Amino acid sequence: MNEYDSGRISDFTKAINYRKTENFKEADCFVLNTCHIREKATEKMFHEIGRIKKEYKDKKKPIVLITGCVAQAEGEIILKKSKYVDAVIGPQSYQKINEIIKKIENNNKEKIDETNFDTIKKFDTLSELENKASKVFNYITVQEGCDKFCKFCVVPYTRGVETSRPFEQIICEVKSLIKNGCKDITLLGQNVNAYNYKGKKLSDIIFELEKLDNLQRVRYTTSHPKDMTEDLILAHGRFKKLMPLIHLPVQSGSNKILDSMNRRHSVEYYLDKIKKLKKINANIEFTGDFIIGYPGETEEDFHQSINLLKKVKYIQVFSFVYSPRPGTPSSDLSLINSSIAKERLIKFQSLADKYQLDFKRKLIGKTVKVLIEKKINNQNSYFGRDEYMNSVITNKLKNENLIGKVVEVEIQKTNKQTMLGTIINNFKTEKEFAA
Ligand code: SF4
Repeated sequence: MNEYDSGRISDFTKAINYRKTENFKEADCFVLNTCHIREKATEKMFHEIGRIKKEYKDKKKPIVLITGCVAQAEGEIILKKSKYVDAVIGPQSYQKINEIIKKIENNNKEKIDETNFDTIKKFDTLSELENKASKVFNYITVQEGCDKFCKFCVVPYTRGVETSRPFEQIICEVKSLIKNGCKDITLLGQNVNAYNYKGKKLSDIIFELEKLDNLQRVRYTTSHPKDMTEDLILAHGRFKKLMPLIHLPVQSGSNKILDSMNRRHSVEYYLDKIKKLKKINANIEFTGDFIIGYPGETEEDFHQSINLLKKVKYIQVFSFVYSPRPGTPSSDLSLINSSIAKERLIKFQSLADKYQLDFKRKLIGKTVKVLIEKKINNQNSYFGRDEYMNSVITNKLKNENLIGKVVEVEIQKTNKQTMLGTIINNFKTEKEFAA
């Protein structure tokens, strides 16, 4: 979501003649768009501020803005701690960025703290601004915030309550992205499958996107098992553009830990959703999130997480040792021994990596459909993604422009991250694939 937000921040500031630069040494304004999910982000932010300060010590001070969830959660502390920062802007207030920059340009001496929750106003302002991203693969925010209040999570406090973006705004923005070359769209929300705008659900958005010519692929993330409703499950059997990959976080394989996390579902409930999805479309694969070493996690609880990993065989898992986030209910709980937690994580990740690699290895010698996103370093080989978001690098091909096309690639080699393959001669057109 931060990637999407950063793009929109950049779109907003064009109206006051700011352009994105790759040149760190010549910027007039820095926007550090932050994430608060793990504690390292705050550290990284202060490190970046230090880097800017050092580079600009003999030059005109650039404007420094902190946006995103760290700004929301720790705005006051940041302004107190670093005089170099001009303003903190929460994730629901970045539509005000131009006014804020103008104020600072006009020698406003006061530090600005803009951290109100005004999601609806933000969505409306976003819709007035054309999304000019011209990439094959794009994200679009359709929902923000969360009402689930898992005890470890900062999202309900930094992004606010669940708010769904107006249906028409979403379709309109996707159409404009398609005009600029978008073929693969990911619908985003902290709890995206809770989308509900005046009765329209996530499956309604997918249905509408299915009808749009030139759009090849639709995905969504991140989902909560409780909101994996019947209509959405059925959508996976109905819509060809909806990719067979679902990110379905669970966090733990132990019902005791799920309960103490306030996840509001059991392992059995979660597995039942997976079973239903597989029944509707056997090709569906899953990615997941796990927290290892949550307060109270015993060896037995950990083994239950390992068992769940073995059952689902996720094709990718994001797993971390629990880190308490300030202000969340679980931040007061006693931590388990940190070396035990780290050992468990290593064990967990090595098994998760094995499943990830196994999945890719099974594709060796097979043909996969790859949507080409770009040429690599101006050579004649291409980078693209298959239906499961696996990165694929192709052989070299002269005199072709395949960007934005779906091609068939025979996979020859793979490692955990990337598969290498050869485009088979007569690549098909998008229409042939659709048929
Ligand atoms: S459902 Fe996800 S976003 Fe919502 S509180 Fe739980 S972990 Fe955070």
